[in-house]
Amino acid sequence: MNTDVQTCLLLGNPVGHSLSPLIHNTAFLHLNLPVKYKSVLVETGELEKFVRQIDGTTVLGANVTIPYKQVVIGFLDDLTEVARSVGAVNSIFMKEGRLTGHNTDVEGFLAPLRDLVLEGVNVLVLGAGGAARAVLVALRHHAGVGDITVIARDLNKARAMCRDLGIGLAIPTAELPDTVLKTGLIVNATPVGMGKGNDASPLPVDARLTPGHIVYDLIYVPSETRLMRVARSRNARVLGGLPMLIAQAAAAFKLWTGREMPVGAVERAINEHLQASSSAG
Ligand code: NAP
Repeated sequence: MNTDVQTCLLLGNPVGHSLSPLIHNTAFLHLNLPVKYKSVLVETGELEKFVRQIDGTTVLGANVTIPYKQVVIGFLDDLTEVARSVGAVNSIFMKEGRLTGHNTDVEGFLAPLRDLVLEGVNVLVLGAGGAARAVLVALRHHAGVGDITVIARDLNKARAMCRDLGIGLAIPTAELPDTVLKTGLIVNATPVGMGKGNDASPLPVDARLTPGHIVYDLIYVPSETRLMRVARSRNARVLGGLPMLIAQAAAAFKLWTGREMPVGAVERAINEHLQASSSAG
């Protein structure tokens, strides 16, 4: 083994379509750091073995993705407060000799909202999965937002999430069109509309989007979803998932290396990659 090169790992199954290797390897190369980011397809029962390789010296840290974000908690020494609140880990790093789990989706979600005034703005979150949990925890830290409403296809799951996190009110899907009218920020935390050529929208056609809305779709492929397209056509302010993806990666990068991610270089690499893959059909 070449001990001069350090590694960071992506642990998940599947891992093939992740943009994380491109993001981190671009950043390591740009900063001339002798670190390689490697995807590891982890089979059932293998997770602990890979987590134990993280020592902060040769293996600096890891990202964790589907389906291991929760189960990995059992193999860690510590969780950050954020990871504990979300109940899921997407990044592991060594802190004072202890394997520590963090969730960088929370700061990733907040990054594109930093310059917006959200004081008193009511928020509608669509979905009740891992991303929705991170969004709710993030909104709890975003001082001054108004009412937070959650709509998901499984009302009981949405209710349980709100109860568990102590934030938000879950209501039935039938109330979606009326809720849109009372909402300033709409966050899509479902995969509806995700994937090349997918033209689905999580909002019904009768949902009335206006120039007063901020529509934030966490999906990053395609870079403009149908929801974003419709919102833009109504002159709403539109945010896509790419800045969040990069910001959550930048937060992990900082934990592993202590360095700021060169975000401009990473954005260029991702845009080139997405353009090449969309023109490849
Ligand atoms: P997840 O844990 O599987 O949760 C997905 C949520 O959407 C669940 O509430 C699920 O309902 C619901 N859902 C799934 N299919 C649906 C459908 N056809 N109609 C209505 N609701 C549906 O997934 P996640 O990790 O939260 O990710 C959600 C989205 O956020 C994905 O598109 C992901 O790419 C994106 N994301 C982006 C970033 C970023 O950095 N930009 C970070 C994290 C996630 P059930 O529970 O009933 O299945």
